[in-house]
Amino acid sequence: GVAVHAESVAVRYANGTQALQPTTLRFEPGRFTVLLGASGAGKSTLLRCLNGLVRPTGGQVRVEGLGTLDDAARLRQHRRQTGMVFQQHHLIGRLSVLANVLMGRLGYHASWATLRPWSREEKERALAAIDRVGLIERALHRADELSGGQQQRVGVARALVQQPRVLLADEPVASLDPATAEHLMSLMHRICRSDGLTAVVSLHQVELARRHADRIVGLRGGAVVFDGPPSSLNESA
Ligand code: ADP
Ligand code: ADP
Repeated sequence: GVAVHAESVAVRYANGTQALQPTTLRFEPGRFTVLLGASGAGKSTLLRCLNGLVRPTGGQVRVEGLGTLDDAARLRQHRRQTGMVFQQHHLIGRLSVLANVLMGRLGYHASWATLRPWSREEKERALAAIDRVGLIERALHRADELSGGQQQRVGVARALVQQPRVLLADEPVASLDPATAEHLMSLMHRICRSDGLTAVVSLHQVELARRHADRIVGLRGGAVVFDGPPSSLNESA
C-alpha cells in the first residue's frame, strides 16, 4: 500500500455548500479506517478527494511516492492504483460474474477499448480476484442470479482485479442486511490486512465501525469530530 495524506483538504461545492472543513488526515498502508458519520457529514466528499474525483477547493492530497494530485498524469496513476467499491455496482445482470469483473476498470483500460478478446492472463487475474471474495463456484453464473451480498463481493473483486494499493469504499454495506454487512466488512478488512492496502471505508452504522475498524474517523458537518481506535469511541458518539 501507499500512504495517502489529506493536507488541510477543504471542499466548497459550486452551489456554496461547504461539504468539508479544512481536514488533515494521514491514511497508512495495512490500516483499515472507517469514516463514520450521518448522511451529509462529508464522507463521500472526502473519499472523492482521496481518489481525485473531486478537486479540493483548499489544501491538497499527497500520495506517497507520487506527490500531489494536481497533475493529470499523476492523477491517472493514482486512480490506477486505487480500487473503488460503491453502494451499488450496476452489474450487467445477463453477463457472467467473470465478464462483469473483466469489464471493471481492467476492461476499460484493456480489452474494452481495443475490442480484442480477453487474454488468458486477464482471465486468470479476474478469476483469482473472484476466488478471493469466495465466489469462484459462481464465476460463470449470471450476475442477476446472485444475492445482494454476493453482488457487493463482485464489486470488491472488480476493485481487486487491478491489484490496487489503496482501497476506498463509499457506503459499501448500506443496502445489505446486517449479517451480510458483517460478512462484507470482515472480507474487506481481511484483504486490507493481507495485501497491506491503505483502506478507507465509509459507514453510518456505529456498531459495524466499532467491530471492524482499526481506526475510526468521525465526521459531522464536514469536520472531524473523532479520530482514534474503536475502543476509545464512547457510547454517545
Ligand atoms: P456523506 O457522504 O457523509 O453523506 P457528502 O460528502 O455526500 O456526505 O455530502 C456533504 C455535503 O455536501 C452535504 O450537505 C451534501 O448535500 C453536499 N453535497 C454533496 N455533493 C454535492 C454536490 N455535488 N454539489 C453540492 N453539494 C453537494
Ligand atoms: P453472504 O455474503 O454472507 O454469503 P449472501 O446473501 O451473499 O450472504 O448469501 C447467503 C447464502 O445464500 C450464500 O450461501 C449463497 O450462496 C446463497 N445464495 C444467495 N443467493 C443465491 C441465489 N440466487 N442462488 C443460489 N444461492 C444463493
